[in-house]
Amino acid sequence: MKRILILGGGTGGLVAAKTIAEKLHKKQLEEPVEVTLVTNDPNHYFQPLFFDVALGTAEPEETKAPIAALQRYGVRVVVDEAQRIDLANRLVQGARSSYSYDYLIVSLGVKYGWDAYPGLAEAGYHNYTLEGAMQLARALARFKGGRIVLLVPETPHRCGMYPHEAVTTLAELFANRERKVQVTLMTPEKSPMGSLGPDFPKTWLAKYEELGIERVIHNGLQEIDPKRRVIRAGNVEERYDLLIKVPPSRLPEPLARSEGFRYKQDPRWADVRPRTFRHPSYDEVYLTGEHSMVPAGLVTAGIPVHFASEYAANQVVSEILGGYPVAGITKVMTCVGYYGAGSGLAGNCELDFDREKGKWRLGCYVAGTSPIIRLMKEAFYKAWIASLK
Ligand SMILES: Cc1cc2nc3c(=O)[nH]c(=O)nc-3n(C[C@H](O)[C@H](O)[C@H](O)COP(=O)(O)OP(=O)(O)OC[C@H]3O[C@@H](n4cnc5c(N)ncnc54)[C@H](O)[C@@H]3O)c2cc1C
Repeated sequence: MKRILILGGGTGGLVAAKTIAEKLHKKQLEEPVEVTLVTNDPNHYFQPLFFDVALGTAEPEETKAPIAALQRYGVRVVVDEAQRIDLANRLVQGARSSYSYDYLIVSLGVKYGWDAYPGLAEAGYHNYTLEGAMQLARALARFKGGRIVLLVPETPHRCGMYPHEAVTTLAELFANRERKVQVTLMTPEKSPMGSLGPDFPKTWLAKYEELGIERVIHNGLQEIDPKRRVIRAGNVEERYDLLIKVPPSRLPEPLARSEGFRYKQDPRWADVRPRTFRHPSYDEVYLTGEHSMVPAGLVTAGIPVHFASEYAANQVVSEILGGYPVAGITKVMTCVGYYGAGSGLAGNCELDFDREKGKWRLGCYVAGTSPIIRLMKEAFYKAWIASLK
């Protein structure tokens, strides 16, 4: 019996499990294969929808579906807290049981480092969990006017596009409600999504100007004083009436506690071989979650996690079926975002492997902005969750 173990029931875990199950379905196998997914939450969440919950345009129930639905594809789903990975013995230790494997695909997201800066955990609101989004929805409904500051403590953070989608949407919504609201983005990012080339900053800055959104560039967050509602950074001090915060990314606990995962250049991430998403020393272990996107040269978002997980799943299937190794990852990644309250933005990143640097190189550009793109985004969100219902 070959055992494929998947850790995490989020974007990467779901994509890997479905890809493997669909590919092996009805195949005549020399040896039976067991696919097990271990996750610590009975639900799969489609996290981009949390912002819609915060805005009151989606219900909490619409953002999630039971991950056990994967059982209809023949995947064994276990809800357990993974604690440690023993690479040498091919064993994952969970809180309730232990799990051995022949192949392991790890997609555990990122840990939210709310304790990384004094005051950050206590101050303000966020929509990086469903509970957080529901609290932010209540805070926005109560908000009578004043200064909303969206704070990015550090980069890279989960979903580089989110702060820009959020501030442009909020500024336009409040303008339509005729409330006196100043929206400010406080961030260390010098230009909006500037790491992806000149096209994104140009497009975002046009919207910032149209909506009168202020940008404050900080050179390192120091602390937040929730009582006085003040954010202090190395170069600036800003006051807020309503604070919306983005979590600093940290290595998920099971990887932080285990030997052989930390990326030496930056301990927030898990090391990986960029071309194949394999563990640096263990061929049977794939790291396809957001925790490994920076070492691979990719962005910290669901899209590359999706493609990395699909690639790893195809690789495992081709080894089991004895076929040729599959080709590299899909070379075009399209993202769609909210562009203010009434429009959407579509962007493309073309991927190319830089042999000298040993990392993926991204060639990104904005494909367009239009209300139709917003509809595409909404349709994609709904279809994703519907696949588990
Ligand atoms: C508000 C918001 C907007 C976003 N918008 C976009 C967007 O527009 N486009 C985009 O591409 N991305 C977007 N993202 C980012 C995207 O959701 C993530 O990049 C993606 O989900 C990462 O996939 P993952 O599988 O690595 O982690 P996750 O999807 O977070 O899944 C991690 C899984 O691991 C499980 N887990 C964690 N710890 C343990 C443990 N110890 N034991 C067992 N299981 C564990 C969790 O329960 C979860 O099921 C957004 C995110 C947010 C919050």
